[in-house]
Amino acid sequence: MTETWNGVKVKTQLLTKGTRRYGEKLRKGHPEFLVAHDTGNPNTTVQQNVDYYENTYNIDWDHVASAHIFVDDKEAIVCIPTTEKAWHVLYNATTDNEWYGVDANDGAVGVEISYFNDKKRSQKSLDNGARVLAYLAEYWKIDYKTRMPGHQDIQDDKQDPGNLLEAAGYSRSTANLDKIVAKYYKKDTKQIPQLQVEWKWAGTFVPNTPIKVRTAPSMKGSIVSNDVMKYTGVKVIKFNSIVKEDGYWWISYTSKGKKYYSAICKITDKKERVKHEKYWGKLKWKKEDK
Ligand SMILES: [Zn+2]
Repeated sequence: MTETWNGVKVKTQLLTKGTRRYGEKLRKGHPEFLVAHDTGNPNTTVQQNVDYYENTYNIDWDHVASAHIFVDDKEAIVCIPTTEKAWHVLYNATTDNEWYGVDANDGAVGVEISYFNDKKRSQKSLDNGARVLAYLAEYWKIDYKTRMPGHQDIQDDKQDPGNLLEAAGYSRSTANLDKIVAKYYKKDTKQIPQLQVEWKWAGTFVPNTPIKVRTAPSMKGSIVSNDVMKYTGVKVIKFNSIVKEDGYWWISYTSKGKKYYSAICKITDKKERVKHEKYWGKLKWKKEDK
């Protein structure tokens, strides 16, 4: 059986029921969020991954892992129905419970995307993965902006889909995947006007509490450090722009040649004016920008 999802050829090759595909329904019978993965195993195709699952369909419980859908540069294969449970995030990881009130295995669909040493193939695979995720998000009415974490965002020891993003020439943050999904998530983009989120307002900031360093202005941006002052080693952070994202104001600055973001306050002002907020530290605007 072959379908097409946002231009990607999708086959169904369901696993024999065993430990990998146990056959249990998701707790609500449908996915409540999506988890983006990469295979962690470069240069493998979806067919190779699904065949491996099938050859080990009843692997012992100590070693079991599985996911619903694999995507590569040519096609996608559904190997576990998206209404059933699969084992793609450790049960003892707690972030999924904090964010969504359920373990990913019991409430989410896991999508595994291939990556390759060949950058072009990785880019195509990433693009196909984004198309499949956008299709699933629309189909199950899931907001990909808040309900599509990467595995790395919800389980501490994981680096996916960062491996895929890096292989395709992006930085490792899941926010980069979101941007590609946005291209294919049609329902949403038609309705929401593109609002300005970044202003080239420079200044200095000295936090009065440890604030995190992230690779993107989003709670989903990878955390580089929990304390910007320790990480940068400066007494005053010089920022070159501010960004309004995810319910926070962020400063954007460069450290060790790389661009980072830190949240400096929650947005509480009804008109969302940054200068009306209470910051987590002392902020000074550069004179000429006033
Ligand atoms: Zn994963």
